[in-house]
Amino acid sequence: FNTPIAINEPVKTYAPGSPERDEVLKAYKDMFNSKIEIPLHINGKDVKSGNTKTLSAPHDHQHVVGSYHLAEKSHVEDAISTAMEARKAWSQLHWEQRAGIFLKAAELIAGPYRAKINAATMIAQSKTVHQAEIDSACELIDFLRFNVQYMTDIYHDQPESTSEAWNRLEYRPLEGFTYAITPFNFTAIAGNLPSCMALMGNVVVWKPSDSQIYSAKVIMDVFDEAGVPPGVINVVFGDPKMITDTILASPDFSGLHFTGSTDVFKALWKQIGNNIDNYKTYPRIVGETGGKDFIVAHKTADAKQVATAITRGAFEFQGQKCSAASRAYVPSNIWEEVKKYVVADVKSFKKGSPDNLENYTTAVIHEASFDKLAKYIDQAKADADAEIIVGGTYDKSKGYFIDPTVIVAKDPKYTTMHTELFGPIITIYVYDADKFSETLKLVDETSPYALTGAILAKDRYAIAEATTALQNAAGNFYINDKPTGAVVGHQPFGGARASGTNDKAGSVLNLLRWISPRMIKETF
Ligand code: GLU
Repeated sequence: FNTPIAINEPVKTYAPGSPERDEVLKAYKDMFNSKIEIPLHINGKDVKSGNTKTLSAPHDHQHVVGSYHLAEKSHVEDAISTAMEARKAWSQLHWEQRAGIFLKAAELIAGPYRAKINAATMIAQSKTVHQAEIDSACELIDFLRFNVQYMTDIYHDQPESTSEAWNRLEYRPLEGFTYAITPFNFTAIAGNLPSCMALMGNVVVWKPSDSQIYSAKVIMDVFDEAGVPPGVINVVFGDPKMITDTILASPDFSGLHFTGSTDVFKALWKQIGNNIDNYKTYPRIVGETGGKDFIVAHKTADAKQVATAITRGAFEFQGQKCSAASRAYVPSNIWEEVKKYVVADVKSFKKGSPDNLENYTTAVIHEASFDKLAKYIDQAKADADAEIIVGGTYDKSKGYFIDPTVIVAKDPKYTTMHTELFGPIITIYVYDADKFSETLKLVDETSPYALTGAILAKDRYAIAEATTALQNAAGNFYINDKPTGAVVGHQPFGGARASGTNDKAGSVLNLLRWISPRMIKETF
């Protein structure tokens, strides 16, 4: 058997004078002023409902980038019926032919669509070019390539046969259609959720986040050009309740692949539970949800390394990552030094629009997010048991700008030590350097989430103690590093507790959820 070996896409630097810099800036300018009209995509066709909403940029909310069409119930029903029709041929297609299409999609993003996908992500999701390049272009290319490798491994895994009985596992897709609900914060996740289900032979109705529609459009263009047949992946946006109600009411609904908030995921799970008697098959439910990701430093940790883990872990993409560090526990012996580095680093961040490629932080995604974050900042200013040591300012006159903010809490149970904020705010608790074991217990018990976390220490026994004490507190656990930036093929990603079903994205474990194998025994 010939298993393709996937290679991570090299990250481009966008250094001054590089061709990729000119290309992305040109794409940004053209696309920012394009007044694009984004249709729904059903049965391989662009569908305009005539009912549109404005598409704007979080860092320049008065500027009209374009518009997108909102689905009516009939469009969602069409998406379902068209998917079921497409399933007849798609599910019978040899898996290597499906693989070829998605490998082609990876090459299109690596080449002709790279500047476009990055520019769309910069404009409508306000990512810097570096974050867009890493989290959107390269990570999506990696998902597409590595999933083909993992799929090949799965399909080659066969039981023993003898001269009396030939046994084989037929890796069939789920019976019915699947539903992908994707978030704004990673274009790569948005592309991965529908495509990995389709790769395994499923047909999909995909609802991207309202804030990620521009890059979703680029992804669909790529899938079309790569040869995904009409009806295999259908894109609808609009009223999420109407879309979800219509989809979950169908007896053919067979799987949900979700990334988003814990509350929405729980509500979906309940709704699926209430409908369970109507479905032909038990739907698969896979979700990656919230996080309150931690950094714990030990008294032997290097202060500068701790500070870097805090600032880079908390503030890349304005902290809008499920994996972002949002609470840190720093021992008293190194605190003053850590504080000095943290404040200096945050003050050095350049802030503004993503088309200035030197900017390190830009705007948060929308007004609701801005208002919520501003409220927590105001609260911290008013609270006696909290102190803001850097940041604490915000301005939404042009874009939704929240300055990276570090709160120091006197109480380890302070609100922002356990509430997920999803923005550029981290809260630090300074603990008695001799109370490491007690602190680990606190980390484990303070939040309901278990997505990512990091321990920083030079002492090997402290690392071992933390690794054991926090074994259920994080699905991705980092030693002497920040808790973000999982690379496909290297660190499969996902967490448990209130953070999700832990079906690691970018691994065989996730792909296995999207098949319903048939065992065939033939006796001679
Ligand atoms: N995989 C990303 C990381 O490791 C986080 C994904 C997310 O925020 O949903 O940083």
